[in-house]
Formats: sequence, C-alpha cells, structure tokens
Amino acid sequence: MSEANMTIEVLPEKVIGRIAAGEAIERPASVAKELIENAIDAGASSVHVEVEAGGRRLLRVTDNGTGIRKGEIELAFKRHATSKLRSADELQGLTTLGFRGEALASIAAVSRAAIVTRYRDEGMGVSLKLRGGIVEHQQRVGVPAGTVVAIENLFFNTPARLAFLKSEATEKRHIHWVVLRYAMAYPEIAFALKQDGRERFRSSGGGELADVVATSFGLKAFKSMVAIDDAEERRPGRPGIDITGYTSLPSLSRASRDRIILFVNGRAIQDSTLSHAITQAYDGLLKAGAFPFTVLLLTMPPDFVDVNVHPTKAEVRFRDSQLVFVAVQRAVREALLGSADAVPAADLWSATGFTDDYIAYQNPRPAWRQLPADDPFDDDGLDYVPEAADSPIRPRTLPVLRVLGQVGAAYIIAEGPAGLYLVDQNAAHERVLYQKLIDESVNGGVQSAALPESQTVLLSPGDAELLSDVSGLFMQLNFEIEVFGPNSFFIRRAPQIVSSLLAADYLPHMLERLRQSEKTTERARQSLAAVAAVRSGQILQREEMQSLIAQLERCPAPFASPSGQKTLVHLSREQLADEFKRR
Ligand code: ADP
Ligand code: MG
Repeated sequence: MSEANMTIEVLPEKVIGRIAAGEAIERPASVAKELIENAIDAGASSVHVEVEAGGRRLLRVTDNGTGIRKGEIELAFKRHATSKLRSADELQGLTTLGFRGEALASIAAVSRAAIVTRYRDEGMGVSLKLRGGIVEHQQRVGVPAGTVVAIENLFFNTPARLAFLKSEATEKRHIHWVVLRYAMAYPEIAFALKQDGRERFRSSGGGELADVVATSFGLKAFKSMVAIDDAEERRPGRPGIDITGYTSLPSLSRASRDRIILFVNGRAIQDSTLSHAITQAYDGLLKAGAFPFTVLLLTMPPDFVDVNVHPTKAEVRFRDSQLVFVAVQRAVREALLGSADAVPAADLWSATGFTDDYIAYQNPRPAWRQLPADDPFDDDGLDYVPEAADSPIRPRTLPVLRVLGQVGAAYIIAEGPAGLYLVDQNAAHERVLYQKLIDESVNGGVQSAALPESQTVLLSPGDAELLSDVSGLFMQLNFEIEVFGPNSFFIRRAPQIVSSLLAADYLPHMLERLRQSEKTTERARQSLAAVAAVRSGQILQREEMQSLIAQLERCPAPFASPSGQKTLVHLSREQLADEFKRR
C-alpha cells in the first residue's frame, strides 16, 4: 500500500472544508472500529484487540503494520492530520479506510491514550501518553515494528457521554461484531479478540473467507450458506463490480436484518437499499419477516463510490446505485438458485452411500426454533424455516425454482439459476406422485384412507375380469376392494392420493393402462400416479404450484414422468440473451 509510506501532514483548510462533518466518538465500538481501520491502513497482517469492561476501562489494538515515524507521533494526534490524503481530488479514488485525520485526535480528547510504535525503517520506537488530548509523556523505546494503541478510561472527562453508554454486555457485543466484520472483510489478516482476559475470537489470516464466516457465524450456520462469486466484466459505461461472499439458504434465516453484512472496497457499510436488494433476492423463498444471513464483499473501482458522505463513513454513495442494486440482487439470486449441490441434505445423501431411488431417508431437519433477534453472540441464533412438513429431505436434483405463474392452465413458469423453466404440471405431478408411492412403499406401505362412504363401482365385464386378475397389485397399493355383485365392486379403502376422488372416475382408467402394459408393481404405481395427477387444463393456486415444484426439485428423476413424458423445458439465460440479441 503506497499510502503507508506517506508522511503525516495536517490537511489544508480547503480540503478540510470538503470533508463530510467530523465524526463523534460515540461508544467504545466506534473506537475499536477506528483503531482497527488504522491498523489495516498500515498494512498489518495481524491485528489483536483487547477489551476490558466493554471497552470503558481499556481498549487496546496491537498491529504489526508500518508503524509511525518518531518525528510524526505527536502530529498523528492532531486534528485533520493524516498520511492518507493530500488534496481534495484524491477523495475521488481513496484506497484507504481513513482519510480525515480525525479519529486519533477525537479519541485521545476523551480518554487517556497511550501509543507505542516503531516505524519499520527506524531502529527505535517511541511511546507517547496523553490525557484528554494533552501530551503528558514521551520517550524512546525498543519495540518491534508496528503499533499498539491503548485507550483507557474512555469518556472519563465527558460524564454525559458515559451516562449514555449502554450496558457493558451490549458494548461487548458491538465490539465483538466490529472485529468479526473486519475479519470477514480481510480474511488475509489474522484477527484476535480478547474480552476481559478471555479469547472470544480468532481468525487465521489464511485468506479464506469461508474460514472466517464459519468461525463468525458458527459451523452449523455456515453449512446452510452458499458461496457467492460474481465477477462482472468491466465494459464501457460499466464499472465492473466483483461480488463475493456467502448467503444463507432458505432453510436458515433470522427475524432481523442484523446478519446482513456489507462491505464496499473493504469498508463496512450500512445501506438499506442494498440490504433490500438482498432480501428481494429471497422473494418467494423466505416467509415475510424472515431475513437471511449474508456477507457480501463488493469490489469496484474506487472512483465509482463516494465514501465522503457520512461522518462514520458507514454510508457511501454509488455513482450508479441502480447498477449496484441489480448486480447484488443477481449475484445473490444466482448463488441461491444454483445451490443444488450445496444443500446440507446432499451430504447426508452421499454419506449414506446410496444412490438408489428406493431408499428411505431419515429427516435430518432440526426442530423449528426462533431465537431473539438481538442475541448476536449465540452461534445458535438461527431460525429454521421448515419446508412443507411432508416433503422428504432428499438431495436436490433441481435448483431452487421460483414459481412465477401458470400458462394455459397447463404449464408452470418458474425462474431458475440459468433462466426460465416451463414445467408440464401433469407430467411433473405424475413424477412426484410416483416417487411418493415408492417412498411410502419402502416406509411401511402406501398411505391409504378409509373412504368416508364406501363407494360402489360398476365396471365393464372386461375391466371386472382384469381387476380380479390383478387384485394382488391393488392390494399392494393398499386398496381394499370387495366383490359386490357381477362386475360391481365395493371400495372401502383407497390410497391417500386418490382418496378424495370417485373410484368410478379413475378405476377404469387405471385398468385401461394396466391392460396395455405388463402387470407389475411398477406399472400399477405408474397407473395410480397417472390418474391421481393434476390434469392439464386445471387451474392451480400459487401454493399448489410451489408445493409441486418444491417436490419435483428433490425427485431422483425430475426430468420425465414415469411414463417417459417430458416434465420441463429450460430456456437458458444464454438462449434468452440470443433471442433478444443481448450477446
Ligand atoms: P486517518 O486514519 O483518517 O488518517 P487517524 O486520526 O485515524 O486519521 O490517524 C492519523 C494518522 O496516524 C494516520 O493517517 C496514520 O498516518 C497514523 N496512524 C494511526 N494509526 C496508525 C497505525 N496503527 N499504524 C500506523 N500509522 C497509524
Ligand atoms: Mg483512522
């Protein structure tokens, strides 16, 4: 980082005038944030944070960055003194987190501050002590290169501010999250956090975001997250936005937005528009009031984003916010929809070693839990949104599809990872029901129901004869049929999937299918699924479509009905782009 070589100088008045109003040090967490940012700007590869009494008694940040030249140490505590900015023009392309030269001055003014630092090219270091911003003591010391800033008795001279501080526990939590955030934004830096002598967090500095996210959110939550990796090419008029990170699958959510963590060019930001872009990407996947866990790192040319808009630098302005919005939404959406392999159930699947259709699955889904939203420490602060209670947990065979609507009362339109899907409702339902029958058969038998009123069916002599021939197959399907008279039968019990239908309507059709095929269990299941499936031409409610699609997504063979009919047509993004000449 070339800035690390620059000397510290007081900004000219006209540059100061261009900088968004100075920041107030509001709470210990803001001190932690500023000191950590300074360590990062100094090129540190290790940043250790120690806290006592929620930061009120002590906040100490130790880094192995460049250090400060001994001749500049006092200047560092002057207002508007910075090594990171020289002219107002440079505000356009900032690559450092700091630039106002105010933090050390503001912090030192309301505390007892001590700094020990050695510039990497100097043989000796220097130690400086200040009280309320006034230098009390300075001396040369032999120390390793780097900087230790210790802030003690924060707000000792501003009792009003002290009175406003939240509970110690709250401050601890805030500091904890400041450290976690920076650790996630800078996986190549080794962070450590000690609170009251106890280590609360440590990242390896190994450079893997996955490691840090897993340690920060807990392994359990991490396993329900998918990677986001979206690099947009730089084209004329387009800045080229890189988006990486992790976001939770619909099975993991939280009752508040406080696990949506955003960074732009390494800077933690709060941006309600972007968190909206993220939650919108979950449209149709999360119920109202549920929010995902998301860590998004956005990288874009520095001149595309203005960081000089808010005193805490937590808000930024994009040159084209619509562009960023769309890019974020698409990146999250694609990660979610393309997550077929990342669903935890898939691990279970491969762990069993079975790849056969005819296997029953244990349901590994954790019990529904909802923890208070403001419990950020707890690795267990997860809500699991259960899928439809009866949907078997099986590996996905299709990505998560979002139902958009129905066409011609025959096809369901859905959006998928790489474009549009048109699903034949009849063929798809047949596939789903057939699979259900298989699952039930190996799981204690086809589910059946006693009919509220026994139904009498009069069949043709041919059908009656066939029914007697294949009565074993009907028994396997858990039908209870009695001969009532010549060609007439009494249906007492029927498989659940047809229990609301009239046997007189579907029995002849089943028999017709069986007549033309082998008389096997498979064929019997197929014929039952075929008569129970929704018809083409039947208008479906949105919930019905969603449930159908959700079940199809986990069918071992989702692409065709058991009788070989195609269930879906996929129009890829590329095909669409070609169609509209967007390539
Ligand atoms: P800013 O970060 O906006 O420049 P600060 O008041 O936070 O302002 O810091 C003032 C200057 O002190 C910085 O520009 C930098 O040169 C120096 N400095 C502060 N902390 C460190 C550190 N941990 N390592 C090296 N230099 C530091
Ligand atoms: Mg700073």
